[in-house]
Amino acid sequence: MLRLQDLRNIHAVFNTEVFGGELSAVAIGMKRSNSSYGAYIYGSNVTNQRINISRAIITNGDMGEILGTLAHEMCHQAQFELDDLTFKEADKEMQDHGDTFQAYLTDFKERFKKHPFINEIYA
Ligand SMILES: [Zn+2]
Repeated sequence: MLRLQDLRNIHAVFNTEVFGGELSAVAIGMKRSNSSYGAYIYGSNVTNQRINISRAIITNGDMGEILGTLAHEMCHQAQFELDDLTFKEADKEMQDHGDTFQAYLTDFKERFKKHPFINEIYA
């Protein structure tokens, strides 16, 4: 089973490979609710940002689901950190999974197209 520390390390690799190291090293935790696979939680600065992955996915999901969920939430992180959006704009953009989200997702897919996990990234 993957540990949270493994996910932090993978976050760092994805950050370097896809985002040129521009994303912050946010906290990664587990969430009990299974209402969604993951969540990107953001606040006014990096100390209150985090990515939560559902316990069920970490415990029972295959590697593709876990890494795909992390990749998805990192695209939200990029929307918030790199796109210079207001909170209100960010809320709307993140809910919509619109153009800015899709652009980051495309970067991910392009970079990791030879890796099987990429098929698991949901949009
Ligand atoms: Zn999403």
